[in-house]
Amino acid sequence: MKTLLWIQGLSCNGNTQSLLNAENPFFYEIFQKIKLIYHPSFSYRENLQTIIKKVKEEKIKINFLVVEGAVTSDKRFHKIGDYSVAQILEILKDRADYIIAAGNCASFGNIPATFPHNTDVKGVQYKFVQKEGFFPPDFKTRSGYPVINIPGCPMHPAWFTQTITALLEGKKVILDQFNRPKELFMYLPHDGCTRNEYFEWKVESEEFGHKEGCLFYNLGCRGPMTHAPCNKILWNRISSKTRAGMPCIGCTEFNFPLRENFFETKKNMGIPEEVPLGVSKRAYITITGVAKTLKNKRLMVKLEETD
Ligand code: SF4
Repeated sequence: MKTLLWIQGLSCNGNTQSLLNAENPFFYEIFQKIKLIYHPSFSYRENLQTIIKKVKEEKIKINFLVVEGAVTSDKRFHKIGDYSVAQILEILKDRADYIIAAGNCASFGNIPATFPHNTDVKGVQYKFVQKEGFFPPDFKTRSGYPVINIPGCPMHPAWFTQTITALLEGKKVILDQFNRPKELFMYLPHDGCTRNEYFEWKVESEEFGHKEGCLFYNLGCRGPMTHAPCNKILWNRISSKTRAGMPCIGCTEFNFPLRENFFETKKNMGIPEEVPLGVSKRAYITITGVAKTLKNKRLMVKLEETD
């Protein structure tokens, strides 16, 4: 049976919490197919130092090494027994078939990497947009893959279980330019958003939590420029941020959370500084101008009041 070892760096444990909500397969079903060697929240028989000793003695083999949280070598910030998380990664890096960065902190550094007093904090292979994470840019595990990033704050459990299942079945997982599985991260939250018609007709929401209106122009929605299948693989199988009336905050991207205000779309003379991916500013201005002039009257009233 293949094995999985889960370690944590600077983390809020959110990706573990998310994984506990996995359905299809459920959390316990995954670990009927893979032997969980160690997880900081679930393991009680042996501590990580004992496991590392056994790995070094080749008594335990690791197929999947999962890293949750940002990496630092500074033991003042994070320590596991006598080791920093960086030291653990150094020991294990050539002993795993696959290394998976679970969540945005392990993928890109996220909030811990913004600490001004510790420049040593980074993702496993990236620090934000740069390939300047803990491992060098050309690092690959013995399976030939770089660190596979499954970002998100937190990641959706199905993104993790689908990737692991594909690898277990020997399927090739194609990665995008930020080493995220393309099958998942080629979509945008904008794809499948129930507010798309409002976006097309430029009917904008002014407040959070309403059923009507697009959240882009006034409330900072990053759905049209973020790579994540949040409106394709729904959260808890029923919802997503935009379906609940909350703008996408772009938490699967390399530049999260480097924004001043998550709930504002920066504009110059009324034109958003960033327009949807693939669209020129000129095209955006033309199309929005036409949509606003023609108006879709059905979308101007509350949904409950439509016939
Ligand atoms: S709410 Fe966001 S994701 Fe949905 S249509 Fe508007 S911009 Fe796109």
